[in-house]
Amino acid sequence: MKHLLMPLAALLATLPLPVQAAGDPPAWREPVEPFRIVGNIFYVGSKGLAAYLIATPDGAILIDGTLEDNVPMIERNIDKLGYRMRDVKILLNNHAHFDHAEGLAHLKRDSGAQLLASWEDSKALKTGTPPSDMDYGVHKFPPVQVDRTIRNGTKIRIGGTTLKTILTPGHTPGCTSWTMTVIDGGKPVKVVFLGSITVAGNKLVGNKGYPQVAGDFRVSFARLDRLHPDVVLPFHPELNDLMGREAKREAGDLNAFQHPGELHEIVAQARSDFEADLAKAKANR
Ligand code: ZN
Repeated sequence: MKHLLMPLAALLATLPLPVQAAGDPPAWREPVEPFRIVGNIFYVGSKGLAAYLIATPDGAILIDGTLEDNVPMIERNIDKLGYRMRDVKILLNNHAHFDHAEGLAHLKRDSGAQLLASWEDSKALKTGTPPSDMDYGVHKFPPVQVDRTIRNGTKIRIGGTTLKTILTPGHTPGCTSWTMTVIDGGKPVKVVFLGSITVAGNKLVGNKGYPQVAGDFRVSFARLDRLHPDVVLPFHPELNDLMGREAKREAGDLNAFQHPGELHEIVAQARSDFEADLAKAKANR
């Protein structure tokens, strides 16, 4: 359930900052073959960092850039699925941390796509400097132009597909999730692309760059509680063993990705981890 940056943060607490790439989990750069998840949603990321392609007759949406090192693999994966980089019209980012945003500038150059991002994370994307006080320091990434800002409730429409923006701040001030409904096997299936909701090194008390961080986490948990998706697609795929589910589907379980109720278990765990971290931060101030 924990963000990978949690153990990483503990490990790096003893090292000089900034964080060095050598500390990244190897799975973050491990290639995987692209696969269809449900409806028109495809996985094109690495084993440890998700990138999702949503293909429509009028072009595609690509969510997340992951690491710059992964860009050639993401582009190859899109190609293997029979699409071209020029088909990607819209780029999205779940939040402005290097493990999800580092590849965006390169992907934007190669596709010519428009980058849509929350106003709250846009400054971080434009400067390549993540927002907020993190106790594992600041890991910069290549700056990238944001073409349009989106807010809670913004609908992103292309080729008969609509993504609804759910702002889920806390992990960063503009961390974003999206919902969409696909038709799969003749039935509607509700999907959520779940932005990171872990504390992961954020200072919860006395955070000068992001004073309202703790309140924002609670707003996000409440927003997510109101959703009832059949499929949860996180950006750290180990959160719900996405690779294991793909293996199960390959073995014949056609509904391997569908777990109604799972989002509420994930949110309950994140909420209890958050409350424990907040209590610790208050005790140590
Ligand atoms: Zn993050």
